[in-house]
Amino acid sequence: MRLLIKNILSNGCVLGNVKKMNTTGEYVKANSSKELKRFYEARDITIKQIQELKKENKDMIDYLTIQELMVLDPNLEIEVKAFISEKMSAVDAVKKSMEKYKAGLSNSSSTYLQERILDIDDVTHRIANNLTSIYNSKEIHPYILSADNIYPSYLIANKDNILGIIVKNGGYTSHAAIMCRGWDIPLVVVDADFDEDETVVIDTGKGIVIRELDDAELNDYSNKVANRLSYDKRAVLHGDYLFLANVSSNEDLKRVLDYGFDGVGLYRTEMIFMNTDRPYTLEEQYQIYSDAVECMKDKSICFRTFDIGDDKKLSYLNASKKGIDNYKNNPMLFTQQVKAMLMANKYNNMRIMFPMIESNEEFIYLKNWVSRIALEDNLNIPKIGMMLETKEALNNIESFKLVDFISIGTNDLTSELYKLDRDNAIERLDEYKSDLVDRLKIVVNFCHKNNISLSICGELASVPSIANLFYRIGIKNLSVSPSSIRTLNSIYTDFINE
Ligand code: PEP
Ligand code: MG
Repeated sequence: MRLLIKNILSNGCVLGNVKKMNTTGEYVKANSSKELKRFYEARDITIKQIQELKKENKDMIDYLTIQELMVLDPNLEIEVKAFISEKMSAVDAVKKSMEKYKAGLSNSSSTYLQERILDIDDVTHRIANNLTSIYNSKEIHPYILSADNIYPSYLIANKDNILGIIVKNGGYTSHAAIMCRGWDIPLVVVDADFDEDETVVIDTGKGIVIRELDDAELNDYSNKVANRLSYDKRAVLHGDYLFLANVSSNEDLKRVLDYGFDGVGLYRTEMIFMNTDRPYTLEEQYQIYSDAVECMKDKSICFRTFDIGDDKKLSYLNASKKGIDNYKNNPMLFTQQVKAMLMANKYNNMRIMFPMIESNEEFIYLKNWVSRIALEDNLNIPKIGMMLETKEALNNIESFKLVDFISIGTNDLTSELYKLDRDNAIERLDEYKSDLVDRLKIVVNFCHKNNISLSICGELASVPSIANLFYRIGIKNLSVSPSSIRTLNSIYTDFINE
């Protein structure tokens, strides 16, 4: 059965089994037929374990035989089946059934039966442990996640096990979508409910999700997926244009080099912060930035100071809104981050950039803060720039004469200018495209006049219909997710062949 994809947020073709996530982020495990299978599997393992124990412990044969009979008791099976049919997980069904059993015995006056309660607890433990191992062994198989929404923190924690994601809601410039494109994880919006463990295919090339696959489809997609790594993903020669990458972790850097990017135009450092539920120490941060700088060595790497708020949340920082108030309210966090960056700048290939700047005063305030940190420890000051992503900064562009470089963040900028949210910025592109290009021409002229280097790191840099226009007005540095290298190649090739 083929379902049409409503919106492709990250491309790819994958085949796998569905894992469902409910709104609280917990997996829904209670698919009755799968749970029953798991119960029988755990029961068989438990019997084998008891039989092994009987061979090794002859003096405990009687006791172990009682346990064996309990596990195989048809009444236990009947009870467990009944609970599972009410959508309970196998492990809960076993515990509930055993509780019922125990309640019956505890009313008995027989000491012998009373003593059997301990055996029941022991047996319950054995089956539950085996069920947990079955769940865990399943958890490490990569899966296709089905969820209403997907958030960056979930992705960061689970990305190694996620083959692809089907959501009910989501937009192209949401951070989860940006990260999926960075990691080549297909992410699609489909209006349908999926069952736990059902086998599906996501094929963004055809714009479909396939369920209830027949043998031919299964075979076809197994081969396709196995061969998919042979894509040619290298930057073509691109003259005096810079092909830069947006990254969220040091793991992304290998691909930045493999794909032939010229450097990193945006390192979203807040994504590293999401890996822990406490602030990183100075040493931990130093190690991360130092490894990144080492990896890029003779290419530039631009770290953006942490940009928390909106859909990017940290458990240890209360920030409802993005912006420099988060630095003022958490001065230690900012100071430590900047200090760790400056200490790591051993090849002078680093740039530091501030997000959500609204005025020149804000920029100078942060630049001075960085200078004080550098001075205190006698560290070099790298080039310092800003994101241009607020309406206020765009209106005040002429005032930013002291910045070393500017990177245009079209995700936030277009949301603010055209009252879009990250979910519909691409769909509504035609409505605001020419106005945006006109406004950016002013920025290009300002940068040209003041010798300020200019790039674009918002997602529009990898949308051909507008990225071509950016090229035409002279924005030569585009920073995109690593997986968008082929889009950059085609934008450049189209441009020079015109
Ligand atoms: C942007 O706003 O365009 C940008 C690159 O920043 P982020 O997407 O991380 O908010
Ligand atoms: Mg932004």
